[in-house]
Amino acid sequence: MPEATPELKKYEFRRKIEELRQKHGRGTELISVYIPHDKQMPDVTSQLREERGQASNIKGKSTRLNVQSALDSILSRLKNVKKAPEGGVVIFCGAVDIGGDKTSMEIHIVEPIEPVVSYKYHCDSEFFLEPLEDMLTEKRTYGLLVLDRREATVGLLKGKRTEYMRRMTSTVPGKQRKGGQSSARFQRLREVAIEDFFNRIGKHASDIFLPVPNLVGVLIGGPSPTKEEFIKGEYLHYEIQKKILGAFDVSYTDESGLSELVDKAQDALQGIDLMREKKVMDRFMRELVSGRNLATYGEQSIRENLKMGSVETLIVSEELRLLRAKVKCGKCGYEGYETIKGNTANCKKCSAPLEVTEAQDVVLELTELASRTGANVELISTDFEEGAQLKNAFGGIAAILRYNTNT
Ligand code: ZN
Repeated sequence: MPEATPELKKYEFRRKIEELRQKHGRGTELISVYIPHDKQMPDVTSQLREERGQASNIKGKSTRLNVQSALDSILSRLKNVKKAPEGGVVIFCGAVDIGGDKTSMEIHIVEPIEPVVSYKYHCDSEFFLEPLEDMLTEKRTYGLLVLDRREATVGLLKGKRTEYMRRMTSTVPGKQRKGGQSSARFQRLREVAIEDFFNRIGKHASDIFLPVPNLVGVLIGGPSPTKEEFIKGEYLHYEIQKKILGAFDVSYTDESGLSELVDKAQDALQGIDLMREKKVMDRFMRELVSGRNLATYGEQSIRENLKMGSVETLIVSEELRLLRAKVKCGKCGYEGYETIKGNTANCKKCSAPLEVTEAQDVVLELTELASRTGANVELISTDFEEGAQLKNAFGGIAAILRYNTNT
């Protein structure tokens, strides 16, 4: 198995959540258990046994039996587990309504993309997915700096949370000079004081931003033209200076200025998320019209090129909801692999309903093929025009090739 990239792990994880979200119980009988790594397993099993005991008080007979058997199922799964994995584990189990007056006892074990923080037991008519959904929201970190000539505040934006880090004030004299001072001398002193203050801000902000792992960028706010002077003067460490994403007009330079800055920069922040995806799509579109035959799309062409090892970058839509299924026809005996939507398909030869014996998400399957030949894989959202186009006009699967295979 090739090593899954973080994007791919996240994609798989998101698909799993989507799958679990579709499931409903007919009563309050779907159980979710969140187990952190440091939770002692004997504690977990004794708590679950206690729930098993209390379940005998449930009034509805089928709900009672279903809850009890779900708990039995979980307990038997945990019997030989000595410790939860590094990031913890989440177990979903219960009698899922499968329509036609039937239920099916299902168990799903999920290793989350971020550590489980606290133990939770939850029984409801749906699985409890909120903590997992939270893990999918962006947690990238940005540096924040608001300043004028009197005051500066440094903070961090982590995901959606703004954190205050440090505030500084200056001794820069106001514009009004004292009597007896010459105007030129006063101006000079003032400029020296501003220069000192900017140097101090640059040093402290850099000290805060430099150790942040994967700092995406830095946002700077303040009144004009002070913030522009600060940026132009390159007072920040050169590694941080490179990461400045923009300057925004804000009216406060204290802690409340940090939130104001985040509000003002909202569009820019969203743009950054899409920038990389946009670049990939731009390149694809350019190749498509260049006549060099280095862009291709459609499942069949992509499969052929992946087999030849000629794909440089595989581009797939995140919204592609297709399965690669191993199918069998009970009527005419046809057997093979088909790409299907939903869980059913009909035989190409005799149009009888096919039996699906194995199925895998197409995105994951193609990614595996791609990684065998060292191709890059880019997952593209539909949140921008070209991304939507990839899904609707190009069937959600495209590639940029290493060389022209169309000769
Ligand atoms: Zn058939």
